[in-house]
Amino acid sequence: MDFALSEEQSAIFDMAHAFGQEQIAPHARRWEAEASIPKDLWPQLADLGFGGLYVSEDSGGSGLSRLDATLVFEALSMACPSVAAFLSIHNMCARMIDSYGSDDLKARVLPQVLSMETVLSYCLTEPSCGSDAAALRTRAERTNDGYILNGSKAFISGGGYSDTYVVMVRTGEDGPRGISAVLVEDGCDGLSFGGLEDKMGWRSQPTRAVQFDDCHVPACNLLGDEGKGFRYAMAGLDGGRLNIAACSLGAAQNALDLTLSYMRERRAFGQSIDQFQALQFRLADMEIELQAARVFLRQAAWKLDTGASDATKFCAMAKKFVTEAGSRIVDQCLQLHGGYGYLGDYGIEKLVRDLRVHQILEGTNEIMRLITAREMLKA
Ligand SMILES: Cc1cc2nc3c(=O)[nH]c(=O)nc-3n(C[C@H](O)[C@H](O)[C@H](O)COP(=O)(O)OP(=O)(O)OC[C@H]3O[C@@H](n4cnc5c(N)ncnc54)[C@H](O)[C@@H]3O)c2cc1C
Repeated sequence: MDFALSEEQSAIFDMAHAFGQEQIAPHARRWEAEASIPKDLWPQLADLGFGGLYVSEDSGGSGLSRLDATLVFEALSMACPSVAAFLSIHNMCARMIDSYGSDDLKARVLPQVLSMETVLSYCLTEPSCGSDAAALRTRAERTNDGYILNGSKAFISGGGYSDTYVVMVRTGEDGPRGISAVLVEDGCDGLSFGGLEDKMGWRSQPTRAVQFDDCHVPACNLLGDEGKGFRYAMAGLDGGRLNIAACSLGAAQNALDLTLSYMRERRAFGQSIDQFQALQFRLADMEIELQAARVFLRQAAWKLDTGASDATKFCAMAKKFVTEAGSRIVDQCLQLHGGYGYLGDYGIEKLVRDLRVHQILEGTNEIMRLITAREMLKA
C-alpha cells in the first residue's frame, strides 16, 4: 500500500494550486460581490486540461483518474471553493456526455465542452423533489424528430449562465426507470430561467430555476438509452461527491494555514495566541481531522477508480465525513481569528458560508448515511 502521490500527481496538484493562487484567489471576493464568474476564466482552465478531467483521452479529454481529479479540486478550492465546485459540475456533465452520448453527439458538442467555450450545468432537482430525485416530474414527450419538454428544475448551478444543460426528464413510467437524460442548449425555444437566488454561500455562482415550456429538443440530444437517465445521473454523482468533498478539504486546509499565520502574529495576555495550550489542542484536533479526511477521500477515489463493488458506499461516506470535517474546521478557524474572522478581509467567513452547502447538495448528508446503511444491511 502506497499513500504517497506520484510525481505526476504532485505536478497536477501544484499546477492547479498555482493557477488558483494567480488567477482566482485575487478576484474571488469581487466575483462573489458581482454574483458571477467571468466566462473567460473557463477557457484558461481548459488550457490546463481541466475542461474534461476524466473525459477519455480517445474523446480528447485528459483521461485522469478520479483520484487525480480530487487533487485538482482540492488545490483550486484553496483559492475559491465556489469556483472549484462549479468546475466540478461541468466535469460531471462532460463525463456523462463522453460515457453515454452517441458518436455524432460527442463529435458535435465535446470539442467545445473540453475547451470550455461551452459550460455545462446539471439539472436533476425540481421544486417538489430533491432527495427523492426519482420522483421528478419534468416530462419529455416523444415527437417524430425529438422531445417536447415541460416542467421546471430548481437550484440549478449555472442556470441562465451555462451554455448547455444536462437535464433528467421523465419519458416513461413513474420511478427511476422512466427517466432519461437529454442535452438542452441555451437559446432553445421554450427554455427560460427564474431570478437569481440570493444564497448564503457559493455566491459567485449564479443559481436559478430552469423552466421548460414546450421546449423542443432534437432526438440526437438524448444521452444513451431512454429509461436509463437516472442511472447515468447517479453514476455521475459518485465522482461529483468526491469532488465536493475535495473542495471542502482544500478550503479547510487554506483556513487552517491562514489561522496558523494569524495566531503567530496575534498577541493577547503578553504572548502570541499560538502559545496557549488550549488553542494548540484545537490546532492539533483540526490537523488530525483534516489528515483523516484527506486519507478517507483518497481511498474512496481509489475505490471508484478501481471499480470496487463498494465504491458508491465509500464515496457517500467520504462525502459526509469530509464535508462535515471541513465545515467544523473553517468554523473553528473563524473562532480562532476572534472578531477579525467575522470580517470579509480575513478570508475565513466566506469559507464558512461556501462550505455549508456541501452538506446539502450532491445528495444531502442524511442521504449519504442512507446509502451507507443500505449497503451495510445488504451485506
Ligand atoms: C446552492 C445550491 C446549488 C445546487 N445546485 C444544483 C444543481 O446544479 N443541480 C441540481 O440538480 N440540484 C442542485 N441543488 C439542489 C440540491 O441537490 C438539493 O437541494 C438537495 O438534493 C436536497 O434536496 P431538497 O432541497 O429538495 O431537500 P429535501 O429532499 O426536501 O430534504 C429536506 C430534508 O429532509 C432530509 N431527507 C429527505 N429524505 C430523507 C430520507 N429518506 N431520510 C432522511 N432524511 C431525509 C434531507 O436530508 C434534508 O435534510 C443545489 C442546491 C443548492 C442549495
